[in-house]
Amino acid sequence: MKIITTPDPRLRAKCRKVNKITPEISDIIAKMREASLEWEKSHPYELSAAMAAPQLGFDRRIIIVRDDLDDKKNTGFTALIDPEVIKTEGKTKKDYEGCLSVPSIYGLVPRPTKVKIKALLEDGTPVRIKADDSLARTLLHEIDHLDGILFIDHIKDDETAFFRMNDKGDLEPVDYETEVKNNPKLWGEDE
Ligand SMILES: [Zn+2]
Repeated sequence: MKIITTPDPRLRAKCRKVNKITPEISDIIAKMREASLEWEKSHPYELSAAMAAPQLGFDRRIIIVRDDLDDKKNTGFTALIDPEVIKTEGKTKKDYEGCLSVPSIYGLVPRPTKVKIKALLEDGTPVRIKADDSLARTLLHEIDHLDGILFIDHIKDDETAFFRMNDKGDLEPVDYETEVKNNPKLWGEDE
């Protein structure tokens, strides 16, 4: 499975609700897990924290989130189906975000530090999750994907918020005009 990258229009679509978990849905989840771990093999400094179904071209409201966001050796992911934000709280904080679908660009993205969501687990069990800090950020980033929103949209007017990872794994500021603002590959304006 190939991970779709900007400016593919499938990343900009609003995805359909799942409602009923069929074998087709379980198959999509299996493919998402596999593609996340496959991506990680070729990105030694990065951890594949999460993925949303549209990143593989599936127009469904499904995300998977790594069970341990700090430990690459833990390859478990929890799937959340039809996730919805119930409430965000806490102060807004900026932190670095990257995305499997926005190759090599990172951003300092403001997000609320606490979130409450509801979703279905893979077996159909309804759950409510309270998350803060990096898990809250990850959930908000992934749920955004289901509505066609990318992290770059939140910082498009902040020219100091964009970075690129060098071959040592360090983030360096990028030239905003050429690499961000006027880069049709990023925004898909010419597609
Ligand atoms: Zn993403």
